[in-house]
Amino acid sequence: MSVSTRPEVGAFTSYQLPTEPEIPLRAKLDFNESPFDVPEEIKARVVAALLARRWSEYPEFGAPRLRGAIAKATGRSLEEIVVGNGSGEVLHAAVTVFAGSGGTLVLPTPTFSLYDQMAVLAGARILRIPRVGPGFDVDESAFLAAPEGAIPLVTSPNNPTGGVVSRRFVRALAARYPVVLLDQAYVDFAEPEDDLLPLVDELPNLAVFRTLSKAYSAAGFRIGYAVASTELAREIQKGVLPFSVDLAAEELALALLADGETAEKTVRVIRAERDGLAAALTALGLAVAPARGNFLYFAVGGASRVRRHLLERGVKVRDLSGHLRVTVGTPEENQIFLSALKECL
Ligand code: PMP
Repeated sequence: MSVSTRPEVGAFTSYQLPTEPEIPLRAKLDFNESPFDVPEEIKARVVAALLARRWSEYPEFGAPRLRGAIAKATGRSLEEIVVGNGSGEVLHAAVTVFAGSGGTLVLPTPTFSLYDQMAVLAGARILRIPRVGPGFDVDESAFLAAPEGAIPLVTSPNNPTGGVVSRRFVRALAARYPVVLLDQAYVDFAEPEDDLLPLVDELPNLAVFRTLSKAYSAAGFRIGYAVASTELAREIQKGVLPFSVDLAAEELALALLADGETAEKTVRVIRAERDGLAAALTALGLAVAPARGNFLYFAVGGASRVRRHLLERGVKVRDLSGHLRVTVGTPEENQIFLSALKECL
């Protein structure tokens, strides 16, 4: 049977992961997840809160409690917050609203692969501007020379390369393009000056995207959000269907945001481990890109062979654009990864 779809959807291959042999994993370092689970006492609190709610009713319309808690945590107002089923959903909404139906999305590549799918579904064209130099920096002048009316989507820290963009560059983008989309999923692991949320005050056309999937260890529950001027937030909201954050995700988000300390501890450990792991890889003679997220991106000869050999040793990493990306794990997992890697080089 031939299925009739929009041609660009028909031509698109959806996100696939390689089928792997069943090998017991000793270190799962492939998805940039937190290696630390949500603490038992927070899980218990969330379950108790859920037991007290009516599961037969939709979540509260507009998620005012959750948006209020995020507004408080970020020092913004509730009208500036859009929540969704992971930040992926909110990004998809923004791509659809601003670049859909024939708009152009400008991406500095390599970057997060799901943006491609968002663009295809929205009917947006993609203009790729390759990153430059050993740090995989955004080619700023090429980026600023994209056609007028294009929509830049910049990730900082970037997945998979790990680097950041400056305030000056984001200001230049905002002066040049109608709307700027800035994905800061990994910003909790970066330096204080990398947090570009304060720019929302001066740039009414900037939307910043955040998630509880990384530093807050909540990837299993899908909670993400955008922060933008009230006017921009209202437009992004149009791209998100009502009730996309379910009761369980909402209760977990409220508990995690009220706690704060757990995420801070995760960030402290992961940052120290990241820097130690980068030094160890460099000592092995590998070129490691400057990293501000919870992962490292490094060049290695025969990346796909090395990935396979690591997997045979129970260590899962990603092979992306001819480089390996390893998520920073617990101290034990990182040691397992390093020893296995030494055997594979
Ligand atoms: N942005 C980036 C750059 C990511 O790497 C990811 C997840 N890997 C996301 C957004 C989506 O995260 P989530 O939907 O879990 O919030």
